[in-house]
Formats: sequence, C-alpha cells, structure tokens
Amino acid sequence: MEGLRVLELYSGIGGMHYALKESGISAQVVAAIDINTTANQIYKHNFPDTTLWNKTIEGITLDVFNKLPFDMILMSPPCQPFTRIGLQGDIADPRTKSFLYILDLLPRLCRLPRFILLENVKGFESSSARECLVKTLMECGYTFQEIMVSPTSVGIPNSRLRYFLIAKLSTENKSTQSSKHTASSPLPPAPCQPQEDMQGARVLYKQETTMDAQRKMSQNNDLSVRQIQDFLEPQMEVNLEHYLLPPKTLLRYALLLDIVRPTCRRSVCFTKGYGRYVEGTGSVLQCCMETEMENVFGGLDQFSEEEKLQQLLKLRLRYFTPRELANLMGFPQSFSFPEQISTKQQYRALGNSLNVVVVARLLQMLVS
Ligand code: SAH
Repeated sequence: MEGLRVLELYSGIGGMHYALKESGISAQVVAAIDINTTANQIYKHNFPDTTLWNKTIEGITLDVFNKLPFDMILMSPPCQPFTRIGLQGDIADPRTKSFLYILDLLPRLCRLPRFILLENVKGFESSSARECLVKTLMECGYTFQEIMVSPTSVGIPNSRLRYFLIAKLSTENKSTQSSKHTASSPLPPAPCQPQEDMQGARVLYKQETTMDAQRKMSQNNDLSVRQIQDFLEPQMEVNLEHYLLPPKTLLRYALLLDIVRPTCRRSVCFTKGYGRYVEGTGSVLQCCMETEMENVFGGLDQFSEEEKLQQLLKLRLRYFTPRELANLMGFPQSFSFPEQISTKQQYRALGNSLNVVVVARLLQMLVS
C-alpha cells in the first residue's frame, strides 16, 4: 500500500504517531492538532518535522480540512466526560464539543478518510457520544469494530483498559449500503468485578482483601506477561532520592499504595496525577527485596508513628520514573522529553497518553 496520509487529532505527546510507526504501516502524519502547549512542546521535540497546529479543533473550518488531504484519522478525544470517577457529563460536557464538531464535519468532507481509529476510556462505550459516533459512521458508509483491551493482552505488565473503535470505509457504494453491512462486533465482556462476598471482603493487611490478593497472585503467575524489571531503567541511572516516597506520604497513605516488585507481572493504570496524588494514580516499586511486605504491614497499627515510618522505609518504595512509565506504555527509546519539562509535567503528559503497542496492533488489524 502506498503511504497513507494521516490526520492526528488531540495529538498530545504523539502516542498515536508512535503507534503508527510501530505498526510498520507506510504512512505520514500530515497534521497533528492539540491545544495543550506542554504536550505540544513534547510532540515538537520528538517530531520536529511534523506539522503541528496549536489550535482548538472546533476553530478549524471545513474548508481547511478539505484542503488537507488525509486517508486516516487517529484521535483520542478528551476522556474526562466519560470516566467513572468524573461527573460523566458526556455530550453535555463542554469538553465533548470539539468531538461533536468532528462528527458534524465528517459527512461534509469532500473525500471521506478510508480509516478511522478512536481511543477513549472505559465508560465511552455506554455514552451518547458513542451513539452519535456510530450513527455518523453508519451514515457515511463505514464498517467498524469496537474493542476493549488492556496492555496485559499484548504481554505488557500494566493495566490500562481502554475503548477503541476502528472503522473502515466500505468499498461498496454508499447509497446501496444498509446498516446490516455494518459489522459492529459486540464488545468483549468487561473483566469480572470480584464479588465482595464475606470472604472476599476480609481485610488481610494494607487495605487488601483476600480477593485482591488472589487476583494479584494470578496476574503475577501469568507467564504470557513480561516482568516489571524488563521495563526499569538501570538502577544506577535512577536518582533514588528523587523518586523515593517521602515519609509524609508513607505515613499517610501506606495502606492505599499498590506496591509491585521487579519480578511482578502487573501494575495498575498510571494516571496524570502520578507522583502528586497517591490513591489510584499508579503502582509504586519496592526496591528492597530482603523485606517482606507482609512483615512490614502486619501489626503496623500497633506501632508509634516513628516506628511505623522505620518499618515502611525498609521497603524502599519509589515511584516509577517517567522513562519507566514510557517503557510500560510502549514508547520507543527514541522518545524523550525536552529539558524544560518538569517531572510532574512528564507524568501528567504520559498519564493522558496511550499504550503504543496496543494501538499499533489495532492499526495493523484495521489496515490489513
Ligand atoms: N493521544 C494523546 C493524548 C490525548 S488526551 C497522546 O498520546 O498524548 C486529549 C488531548 O486533547 C489533550 O492533549 C488536550 O490538550 C487535547 N484537546 C482537548 N480539547 C481539545 C480541543 N478542543 N482542540 C484541540 N485539542 C484538544
């Protein structure tokens, strides 16, 4: 296939662009669009030759899009309106406006792109925004598939369950196409939520139930997934002092931490608050292997604050570095941050991005 011309909307730090490269598909990004100046600095640093527009999508006219020839759209619309922890504003949320604008524009383009890939959070599948998307795609003559997938299914020890839609323009004449030609494969069932029965809810140590412990153990025994250590920087290159959890955090949040060891085959989803907030933002790494977690946490509540801290410090818990998060998210070694971007900004940018290997596989599926 001759080189595809790709439009990258909501380009962020270029996760989609890296996925395109990783997929091996012959393609060129003709324009990337995002309004976040920090993300754009990172994008520009890594793709200096790609046209990057620091603009709001809804500010770009149909005329301008028509003058840009493109065969494929890659897009990650803002996910906050659809997250479970958010308010789920869906199409009423102002952050969905630009996406609705794209849907309004699509049927009016002089030439429809042959391929579309959209990424979003779990929750999008039941939104009205998804309804609008599907309706538009059907009207325009696309066939599509919806897929929920996490990086663990491509052997990466990180959970990041995301919704994807891949759409292909049907080669049949648009006017003869009816909705029965539109193959929308049902979403695979979401992973089972453990039933919180009496046994499951019993707290072992930390705030972990037997059910949580069992789930983690079975994840760590899944040999189809690689170990965390394959994604770590050489230890002498990590400035430990910079990444160790401070005493205040240990004392206040110890029971809420998701702790992994280098030999584990799991980690929880890293979000944009990683390094700033503790609860639910991502796993931390245990650097001292001689200490058993059970020994530290068992009976912790009977100690004084000072003794508690001494116990917790034994584990040498640290945050993953931004480079390590990038590794877990499938970014190649060539990816880097400009010097002026702080560690917190790096975590934030990565937390908003996507798993490159997962998207590369989906792109191969789409184009094949
Ligand atoms: N896939 C990207 C991240 C997407 S997150 C990556 O790999 O980094 C959503 C992005 O949409 C954010 O970077 C945000 O700045 C951008 N965005 C949100 N609303 C926008 C709008 N109206 N116009 C352009 N960009 C927008």
